[in-house]
Amino acid sequence: MSDIINILPDSVANQIAAGEVVDRPASAVKELLENAMDAGATEICLIVKDAGRTLIQVVDNGCGMSDSDALVCFERHATSKIRKADDLFAIRTMGFRGEALASIAAVAQVEMKTRQHENKLGTQVIIEGSEVKEQSPCMCSVGTSIAVKNLFFNIPARRNFLKKDSVELSHIEETFKRIALANYGVAFSFHSNGRLLYDLKPGNFAQRIAGIFGLNFNERLYHIEEHTEPVSVRGYVGKAEYAKRARGEQYLFVNNRYIKHPGLSAAIERAYSELIPDHTYPAYFILLDVDPQRMDVNIHPTKTEVRFIDESVIFAVLRAATKKALGQFSLANELEFNPSTEIDFTPAKRDYIPETPKVSFNPNYNPFRSSGTDHNVSVSKKPSLESFFDTVVPEMTEPLMPEKPVEPVASAAVPINYQGRYIITTLKSGIVVIDQRRAHERILYERFLAASEEKEKHAQQLLFPVTCVFNASESEILNEMMPELRRLGFVIETLSTNTFVVTATPNDIKDNGIQQLLEQIIDEYRSNMLQKFSDRDKNICLSLARQMAVRVGTVLKPEEMQQLIADLFSCQAPDMSPSGKRTMIVLSEKDIDDKF
Ligand code: ADP
Ligand code: MG
Repeated sequence: MSDIINILPDSVANQIAAGEVVDRPASAVKELLENAMDAGATEICLIVKDAGRTLIQVVDNGCGMSDSDALVCFERHATSKIRKADDLFAIRTMGFRGEALASIAAVAQVEMKTRQHENKLGTQVIIEGSEVKEQSPCMCSVGTSIAVKNLFFNIPARRNFLKKDSVELSHIEETFKRIALANYGVAFSFHSNGRLLYDLKPGNFAQRIAGIFGLNFNERLYHIEEHTEPVSVRGYVGKAEYAKRARGEQYLFVNNRYIKHPGLSAAIERAYSELIPDHTYPAYFILLDVDPQRMDVNIHPTKTEVRFIDESVIFAVLRAATKKALGQFSLANELEFNPSTEIDFTPAKRDYIPETPKVSFNPNYNPFRSSGTDHNVSVSKKPSLESFFDTVVPEMTEPLMPEKPVEPVASAAVPINYQGRYIITTLKSGIVVIDQRRAHERILYERFLAASEEKEKHAQQLLFPVTCVFNASESEILNEMMPELRRLGFVIETLSTNTFVVTATPNDIKDNGIQQLLEQIIDEYRSNMLQKFSDRDKNICLSLARQMAVRVGTVLKPEEMQQLIADLFSCQAPDMSPSGKRTMIVLSEKDIDDKF
């Protein structure tokens, strides 16, 4: 038989490798930004069009490349960062595999201009699908500019797999944030479709966090710092009361590289146990310094996963440092946790006074306690509901005024609150168990929907307008939601790109914590956007309802429970929460009899 093995041509091999390195615009952005960092740039500009589909350009003022390197850099395994296998264990640069540019050039049209400090002229290289189209001298500033056009132009399948622009752009934004956070001493800007989204000046870590996440962000963070032999930890952890329902603002860096490390994240989160409700997550921004010889960054092609030799010590130090910042420090616990390791806990500074942790399980107000029965928006019942009432309407055991028609839900039997979670009450034909939070979500959801459809607004003017500051992506979403928010009764004015003034809110909302409420709605909206809701009105009403619904663990008073039951049964779809979960179970008399 004849030989059947071929060596793949480079262009094919590169395209295959590209699958690993560049799977979406954000990964090309990551590689280009990291190259700019490795080149020692102090100013980096990122420009994208159509979420990176048509253009990704990174301009840096780094060391640039020589004429011949400008060509070689697109070869596979072309790297200036390591020369021998040993170097792999002392890496301080972001890249070292020499695959990124080759991969990007295999799947896009790339135009690069680069100039080194000592040269008058630079070089321009145009390369398409791994094929060099042109190399010529050019005028350009010191540093490198790489424009990646029409990503995946030659792989339609991959192009078709891209998500809609808002999703791809948020991946790019996340990539940008990670690199900009880790390199706070470098100036970064980010333009998308001609709009300047971020303009970050060099500064310290706190300034960078504030630059990205909004000015008032620093008020929400505690500083942490701990220096030990295997690891140095410094950065910021979020105050417990600002924990969010999404794991958004959690950033961990090792030697200036963003990493994902579930174990270390758990170390931080564990320091919060008891301080924050389940399923909420604290923010953190933490920089670790670890000797590169004692870690391995080589286990994953995109290098966000790393392994540490001293993992258990790093875990303990991180948890201790976080606890200390939260005022929960207990040296004894830490040593007990890991008795065999000697940890050099730097003693707290003499003037260090740990802040008392603020435990707040229910920052959202309880709407029952303020608005009582006075609802401004009444929801009309659907006729089909009558039959429903026949089975689930609680019966009055002793009607007070028997000659009057019996109010279906004004049960004389006092409902029972079970574990601050369920309401148990009796019906004509059995017992109903209501999930109070889901029921309340349903009530608020319908109330907000109805409000958004009404012409006349039930807004309450705030005594003191509240100024809110958001980061760029939050501001963008807020602007997107503005028409719907307005219809609900919010009056929000834009002061500058990221600063807003709230002058009125819908009736059910209290004015303390408006910034937080809006943030949570934005968060919620963002995650709903990625899931099922395409109807923006509904999405916002759902977000609001979920944010404002009574929290699990709140023990309602009897009259509050009665109100909730009454409100629930006047909803159009009382048996489902707006996210499609069951609000109640009904045990009929027969169900009960059968059990005996
Ligand atoms: P790696 O970063 O793993 O070395 P890349 O394919 O990303 O591999 O880049 C190949 C080489 O091209 C780098 O090692 C570097 O020498 C050079 N290079 C890439 N981007 C830049 C840049 N922006 N400025 C200067 N040199 C660069
Ligand atoms: Mg690289």
